[in-house]
Amino acid sequence: MQAQRLTSDMRAAQKNAAQTQRKYQSTVTHVRAYNEIVQKNYLNADLHCHSVVSDGTLTPEELAQRAAARGVELWALTDHDEVGGQHRAAAAAHAAGMDYLTGTEISVSFIGSTVHIVGLGFDADDAALTQGLYDTRNGRGPRAREMARQLELAGIANAYEGALRHAGNPELISRTHFARFLVETGVCSDTYEVFRRFLTEGKPGYVPHTWASLRDAMSWIVNAGGLAVIAHPARYDFNANEEYALFSEFKQLGGQGVEVITGSHRPQEYVRYGEMAREFGLAASRGSDFHSPDESQIDLGQLPFLPSQLTPVWELLQDRIQRA
Ligand code: AMP
Ligand code: MN
Ligand code: MN
Ligand code: MN
Repeated sequence: MQAQRLTSDMRAAQKNAAQTQRKYQSTVTHVRAYNEIVQKNYLNADLHCHSVVSDGTLTPEELAQRAAARGVELWALTDHDEVGGQHRAAAAAHAAGMDYLTGTEISVSFIGSTVHIVGLGFDADDAALTQGLYDTRNGRGPRAREMARQLELAGIANAYEGALRHAGNPELISRTHFARFLVETGVCSDTYEVFRRFLTEGKPGYVPHTWASLRDAMSWIVNAGGLAVIAHPARYDFNANEEYALFSEFKQLGGQGVEVITGSHRPQEYVRYGEMAREFGLAASRGSDFHSPDESQIDLGQLPFLPSQLTPVWELLQDRIQRA
């Protein structure tokens, strides 16, 4: 009787084990198939961040080390309206074992709003590109003086000198440097509070400015052999028609990419702009938009990977990647 029960228990256990094994095999097969689909986009690429050459607080070398320490495999430094840090960044990337793409983030005025266009994989010594960026930076000095004049009227003295002290590159004085001055002097407790209370439309210290045209910015990037990307599209105050106009015109002017996974997007915006990328036939980019260990909420290399249904921009840039 006992021997019989033992036999039937053993049979049941064997059956159970066989079922578990089959289930396990099937899971393994599915996981493998899943990984094969998604892994083409499983590259830790961070293609948007800022150094002291624009409004970041770290040097290109410090950024390269920080990116590599956080697992970044392909990196681009994208300073605002500047390529002055590109050779240093490429050398530091290679020293840290990362592949490198040249980068910049150009300030553009489009139907009355500021839009940012990232360029990737261009020749950083291209004459028309460097001249165009120089001209774009040129208006920043007078704009900063006007910002300071307005802040003075709001009771905040010496903001121009204060902001300039924070600027690593005197040609590139930006709202971020004013924000750091307002935090330093205790007017605000962090830069987020600054942009809520100052420096944005309707608030003290906001000075409207005309940047490069979309057409010029695109031609500088494309003629220097680069690929143009719409930066953080969810951050613009466009209605649906205006956004459609931006994407259509960008595409017509030779634009090929859009940031889908960026430190400036929330998860629902990853989905929305993933769909926009497919609708407009654009490749997708991924970048933290890291500025500073003290200010940025998303660190280098820490964002989710690109969704597998999208073509990553680096697939179109294979011949322009500077390999470690
Ligand atoms: P500018 O090019 O001088 O107009 O400065 C733009 C920079 O200010 C951006 O690249 C951000 O680094 C920063 N910035 C602009 N708006 C905000 C905001 N609402 N919150 C935090 N940073 C901001
Ligand atoms: Mn910035
Ligand atoms: Mn930007
Ligand atoms: Mn940026």
